[in-house]
Amino acid sequence: MTDCIFCKIIKGDIPSFKIYEDDKVFAFLDIAEDYYGHTLVVSKQHCTNILDCDSQTLNAVMHAVQKISRHYVEDCGFQGVNVINNSGECSGQSVMHFHVHILPRKSDDGVDLWPAREKLGVDLKALHEALRMK
Ligand code: AMP
Ligand code: ZN
Repeated sequence: MTDCIFCKIIKGDIPSFKIYEDDKVFAFLDIAEDYYGHTLVVSKQHCTNILDCDSQTLNAVMHAVQKISRHYVEDCGFQGVNVINNSGECSGQSVMHFHVHILPRKSDDGVDLWPAREKLGVDLKALHEALRMK
């Protein structure tokens, strides 16, 4: 896609700090510098997000996510990762080209990505009925 920033990064038209590449996937450091090692794993095939990508693309991206995560833990001194995907504007997706965020973690890094929240008090039985796949 000509006006897509991630397509331009994959083509090399916009510079990036590449972490990994194979025939289906490109991974590079997120420009935000908000988390140490924040990495984006991007499909080379342009699709919008997890809702429209084909299963081959999804498999290739997730396989690369695992490879890179293992590298961060086995070779780079991290102890774990958070893996995040935003799909849809309502979820916070700002770049409309499928990508998965890896946030490498250390036990003492002070990051809290899932702060405790009050219970919603929903009726789980009704919720189950509304959401289960029939
Ligand atoms: P999302 O909000 O899930 O769509 O994530 C998009 C991410 O792309 C954000 O974390 C941005 O910081 C990142 N981003 C946008 N432009 C660039 C760029 N040129 N190089 C690296 N990361 C970028
Ligand atoms: Zn694109």
